[in-house]
Amino acid sequence: MKRPTDLIHHPYQPPADFQAPQPGVFKASTVIFPDVASIAQRDWMQKTGYTYGLHGTPTTFTLEERLASLEGGTHALLVPSGLAAIAHVNLALLNQGDEVLLPDNVYGPNKALAAHELNRWGITTQHYDPMSCDDLVQRLSPRTRLVWLEAPGSVSMEFPDLLAMVGACRERGVLCALDNTWGAGLAFNAFDLLPDQPGALGVDITAHALTKYPSGGGDVLMGSIVTRRDDLAQALKLTHMRLGTGVGANDVELVLRALPSMDLRYRAQDQAARELARWCTKQAAVAQVLHPALPGAPGHDHWKRVCVSAQAPEGLAAGIFSIVLNERFTTQQVHAFCDDLQLFKLGYSWGGPISLVMTYQMAAIRRLATPHLQSGHVVRLCIGLESVEDLRADLQQSMARHLR
Ligand SMILES: *Cc1c(COP(=O)(O)O)cnc(C)c1O
Repeated sequence: MKRPTDLIHHPYQPPADFQAPQPGVFKASTVIFPDVASIAQRDWMQKTGYTYGLHGTPTTFTLEERLASLEGGTHALLVPSGLAAIAHVNLALLNQGDEVLLPDNVYGPNKALAAHELNRWGITTQHYDPMSCDDLVQRLSPRTRLVWLEAPGSVSMEFPDLLAMVGACRERGVLCALDNTWGAGLAFNAFDLLPDQPGALGVDITAHALTKYPSGGGDVLMGSIVTRRDDLAQALKLTHMRLGTGVGANDVELVLRALPSMDLRYRAQDQAARELARWCTKQAAVAQVLHPALPGAPGHDHWKRVCVSAQAPEGLAAGIFSIVLNERFTTQQVHAFCDDLQLFKLGYSWGGPISLVMTYQMAAIRRLATPHLQSGHVVRLCIGLESVEDLRADLQQSMARHLR
């Protein structure tokens, strides 16, 4: 060897124009500038240049552009988790003295962030009834800066009247942000809720836990924020730069690799979940099935209005639903039912290959009354990619043993 420095500074450059099914993975903290003049010229905000790993690489820009297209927006930003995406929207857009409105069935940690950090910083919160647009409207005040929407909400799966709620926010000039993890950009278009009137009605911002469907593997944590508004995109990016919440290129690669199969996975998990949800409606142990695509489920008509279209006459839904088990069962029986499932594993999250089960106490989650929900034990089922017959048999064997 001539000198060790040649292992670091080598003149060889591989030929350009390498084409393959997946884009290359670029990793960097340091980005190298060709000359001092280009330091000032490069504009990472407009994605026309690279300055530092945290501000973007070809790998992160590629995923951002694909996610913006997926969700129907024009700008996207990556953060380390779905929860980080929610937090980022709040931190970038709320000021001391502002109020934020959350649906009472919102993803739990969103409520916790509002109750603790936002509250400490002088930002107040109100929880609105996700089943009532009137309730949301009554809670709006001149201090309301941001309304969060989730369609459907977590655990109890009520689908809100998105059209009415977004319309109400639009009328009063209040920002609305949607947690789009369930729809994933596939079930409905958050930025074009009225497909025959493009741009007429849509949310301002979406937050998406890429951890779920876009990753599809149960092995990546990542989140994204998408918008069509240049002013919001700029505010979100500047806060991102100041907070330093970047993502690793290897994780981005995993999401890029899983995106091509996302639509197929979503549809397969939707089919399987609906079949199992319908089967659950016929089981004596089950008092209520909470799946927005099932007639009679809370918010079913609202789901129909935005998720059923000419291209999807049966509508689209994520592969996740909850069941309310009859209140006559003891907690021990319900736990034994969950423990003795063989294919459904006990764990949080969803959208991966393995079916998951989790129990919830409704009273601990909700502040407002829930007359549309049967009382009983809530169990959430997240459907993976196993065969639906095997999953049904698994539910059946454990129900037969413990819920008689
Ligand atoms: C999982 C989830 C999140 C949070 O995503 P993480 O990547 O786990 O932080 C946010 N919202 C909804 C609706 C989710 O299901």
